[in-house]
Amino acid sequence: MTEPESVDGNELVVHALTANGIPTIYGVVGIPITDLARTAQARGIRYLGFRNEQAAGHAAAAAGYLTGRPGICLTVSAPGFLNGLVALATATTDCFPMIQISGSSDRSVVDLEQGDYEELDQLAAARPFAKAAYRVDSPDLIGVGVGRAIRAAVSGRPGGVYLDLPAHVLAGSAPPTARPPIVDPAPRQIPAPAAVERAVALLEGAQRPLIVLGKGAAYARADRVVRDFVEATRAPFVPMSMAKGLLPDDHPQSAAAARSLALETADVVVLIGARLNWLLEHGRSPRWSPDAQFVQLDICATEFDSNRPIAAPVLGDIGSSTAALLATLRPGGVRPSRDWLDEIVAARRSNNAKMEDRLHSEVHPMNFAVALRAVRDVLDRHRDTVVVSEGANTLDNARNIIPIHYPRHRLDVGTWGVMGVGLGYAIAAAVETGHRVVAIEGDSAFGFSGMEIETICRYHLPIVVIVFNNGGVYRGDEVNVHSADPAPTALLRSSRYDTLIEAFGGVGYRAETPEEVTVALRSAIESAGPALIDCIIDPAVGTESGHLQKLNRPAHEEES
Ligand code: ADP
Ligand code: MG
Repeated sequence: MTEPESVDGNELVVHALTANGIPTIYGVVGIPITDLARTAQARGIRYLGFRNEQAAGHAAAAAGYLTGRPGICLTVSAPGFLNGLVALATATTDCFPMIQISGSSDRSVVDLEQGDYEELDQLAAARPFAKAAYRVDSPDLIGVGVGRAIRAAVSGRPGGVYLDLPAHVLAGSAPPTARPPIVDPAPRQIPAPAAVERAVALLEGAQRPLIVLGKGAAYARADRVVRDFVEATRAPFVPMSMAKGLLPDDHPQSAAAARSLALETADVVVLIGARLNWLLEHGRSPRWSPDAQFVQLDICATEFDSNRPIAAPVLGDIGSSTAALLATLRPGGVRPSRDWLDEIVAARRSNNAKMEDRLHSEVHPMNFAVALRAVRDVLDRHRDTVVVSEGANTLDNARNIIPIHYPRHRLDVGTWGVMGVGLGYAIAAAVETGHRVVAIEGDSAFGFSGMEIETICRYHLPIVVIVFNNGGVYRGDEVNVHSADPAPTALLRSSRYDTLIEAFGGVGYRAETPEEVTVALRSAIESAGPALIDCIIDPAVGTESGHLQKLNRPAHEEES
């Protein structure tokens, strides 16, 4: 068969994606990208159609994080594009590689503001939220545009990339591109030997060395070398939430349950793919010792010194940098103080014992802890489950209560603490990993992407959504004394989330006791199909803003 002389823009986009090994597109179709989705499907790319671009974009971002290949989100012009932008910005903030490919309207009309269908200067709108943004203005450049977008998304610090494809480019035609796939889109970056030696010297001089693992380390897929390095140092480690599972939560060196003590007393801290941002209280005292010195392994040089001064910056990819540190350590060279290790073990034991008491208290209706204990105990028999979590109290409690056993098996609200990632992340996790997924959702958080349960049912994905239904944002018992309207934090107390999934053929459960949670989750997991458990939580037990109450304080109060 001879190659056709020219093909349309849709074919050219699909060629370029296929040539670069992209297997999946997440999106919502409409003008002008419906045929692009059809063409993708015809050529063997899996297209997953969502109900809202925001969820599709979050799915693409999670796909990027989970696979190291950029996840693709396909959106229609103006409003669809803008819906996707939250996910694009979130991906950039989280350092997840994703590409939002959006159709757009006629350039000449848009630029003169002559009023086109869905007129918007999308390239300019996307730029501040993306790591890079490109527009393809003629069909013969589609291969170049897709290739550049892929490299921009995955090389160096990963992020969200915007690729604008005007309708006339998709409808136009050009000879099928023979452009070869991008060679080595995310090249390894080997750290400088002097930087490695400086870091090792600092670490070997430490009395109280602490390792902090971030989601950058999980993303890097250097699981073995990270584990070997942590074990070679014998230092305690603390995982950031999405780095849980890089080493299992029950690892003897884990200081997760003695986090405060470890942070406050460490004298040398090694940050591996973790930013010293608000999630680590900017490295400030009293959370951290004012005398602590920091080693930081990161792929982005401008990250160093963004908060505390970094005594030993190591610029490189996590795999290369960690391997270089490991190779340079002298056997037994890192000597954490015995007394300090004992203190950490004691704190961990005592905190774990307190936690077990909380988890087993007799309360009715359930609080977050007892419901999550039931979830934990069922998941303990299904350790390869990917756990997705969002919400305020639901998130905070689940982070501490649900152990993670393998790398990249926990997806959550990330650096921004964004609500609405839940079902998109769950769908991508199911599609990309083939594992079962349990999404542990606050009732308010669930609402942001709740319609995607239809998507989950349509694709028969092995996802169990557990809605922690306390009838409100944070809590469900606030009363508005000023009018007949519900309070700002209130949601409908009588909601039956279990019946929502039944509308689409999934299985709904309602659980009011830990025993009912256990039975429902076991049955949902056995049935292997989409399920939703409406888990009834005491409306009075949530805390405003979860663990972040201090962020509610006005600035002037913070001074005092
Ligand atoms: P966490 O929230 O878990 O602390 P962050 O998102 O704050 O993690 O930090 C991740 C860091 O990891 C970012 O500074 C990013 O530049 C870095 N990073 C991402 N991928 C890599 C990689 N492959 N190698 C090295 N550093 C990476
Ligand atoms: Mg709630």
